[in-house]
Amino acid sequence: MNKVLGIINGTEFTIGDTLLELSYLVAALLFVTGLKMLSHPETARKGNLWAFGGMALAMLTTLLLHKDGEGNQISLTNIWIILAAIGVGAAIGWIIARKVKMTAMPQLVSFYNATGGAASALVALLEYPNAVAGDVGSILVTVLGLIIGAVAFSGSMIAFGKLDGKVGDIMKPFMTYLNLFLMALTLGLGIYIIVSPNPPAEMIWAIYTLLALSIVYGVMFVMPIGGADMPVVISLLNSFTGIAAAMAGFIYNNQAMILGGILVGAAGMILTVLMCKAMNRSLINVIIGAFGGGASAASGEQGTIKEITLSDAAVLMSYSQRIVIIPGYGLAVAQAQHIAQELDELLEGKGVDVKYAIHPVAGRMPGHMNVLLAEADVPYEKLVEMDDINPDMPNVDVAIVIGANDVVNPAAYDDPGSPIYGMPIIDAHLAKNIIIMKRGMGKGYAGIENALFFNDKTRMLFGDAKGSIQKLVTEIKSI
Ligand code: NDP
Repeated sequence: MNKVLGIINGTEFTIGDTLLELSYLVAALLFVTGLKMLSHPETARKGNLWAFGGMALAMLTTLLLHKDGEGNQISLTNIWIILAAIGVGAAIGWIIARKVKMTAMPQLVSFYNATGGAASALVALLEYPNAVAGDVGSILVTVLGLIIGAVAFSGSMIAFGKLDGKVGDIMKPFMTYLNLFLMALTLGLGIYIIVSPNPPAEMIWAIYTLLALSIVYGVMFVMPIGGADMPVVISLLNSFTGIAAAMAGFIYNNQAMILGGILVGAAGMILTVLMCKAMNRSLINVIIGAFGGGASAASGEQGTIKEITLSDAAVLMSYSQRIVIIPGYGLAVAQAQHIAQELDELLEGKGVDVKYAIHPVAGRMPGHMNVLLAEADVPYEKLVEMDDINPDMPNVDVAIVIGANDVVNPAAYDDPGSPIYGMPIIDAHLAKNIIIMKRGMGKGYAGIENALFFNDKTRMLFGDAKGSIQKLVTEIKSI
């Protein structure tokens, strides 16, 4: 392994170094292929495994072959400590992942994202004293890794609290200015650390102050954001964690870490932009707009509610030609995806054309509905994106809304005072008949009334979605 193969820029290059570089190249290929596979539900599981394989390879070869600036490999004691830490982390992660309910997945993603941000910030914090005074490049990546990692950590913890219902939205008019001031202060101190001629040993106070400021900024940045904007914030924070990991990669001059971080950062940023588009909002508007939350637009009685009996619903569905199922957060809560698939199969057996209309932010995390329906083996071709299904909605005999609310709220079109005004929705209101399954008159995530429930064509089927569909299936079977 230590046989010298050649000398590049005065540095000896051994067999071990070559193998390490090669393994990083293979890991990079595995990351990119895995990421590509993640873009389709059918290949997503495999994609995850490919990316995992890349990460495992990069970790293994780093442990065995990585050398520090002075050419020393990782000591055996440190390898044992690292393996023990990996073992403890993996065991905790495994237990949590097995236990977590599908509805709590977004919180879990936020929590894991927070740990990624914290890890990168800690790397920057621990490595800063080793930086050489005046080496602007290495201090720059350290400072950036610390700021971005710490903001991702505290911001994701607040997002975790919000999604878990433990933290509410706080939006005071002065917060935008306070946040801008905090951001300027954090960046100002960061720049001071980078340009300061003082040796890092004399700047320890500054780096710890920067850490504290960044953590506070992360909290203040996410605190006012809420309601329907949470998906955007989650993917933005995800991208921050990726960028922070890339900075940590620069600190250690580790290509696999740099590349992995950049991939996460870029993918998170693309998703952020797509989510903003799905809600017809700019990123700046999301960050300082503080939309959604508990805001209540039109409230109170908006007309009369009509209910539908199980047998009427069963007859209407059985004798329809085209049905579109619109799933939302309630489907996840009720875990009704399997029984919805059974209903779909039953209706298809009667010659009904059944499709699912997928809103990009339905549920509580990006792709939430796709994941649930894929779990229930609904063929991917049956899932139709919002923009593709909307032009067809006037030809649909029955739109069955299962536990969705905000994503079918016509206030997005016609109520300029509504917090969801301008957000694209699935045009359930254009279908010939609308059946809405929900437990009662509970509001959705944005906390607002929905005129669709009072629409002349709408009939409500109250009850837990899983129970209601189960009864419907029995009823349809008896027709
Ligand atoms: P909503 O949160 O708007 O509505 C869900 C509805 O489901 C509620 O009105 C509730 O009514 C009903 N429900 C709850 N439990 C059950 C059950 N067991 N059976 C039947 N119905 C049930 O969901 P949408 O999917 O329409 O909208 C998602 C919202 O969340 C959007 O505002 C979105 O922007 C936001 N969001 C999305 C994220 C993402 O990444 N996708 C992340 C965070 C927020 P009732 O209580 O009467 O049953």
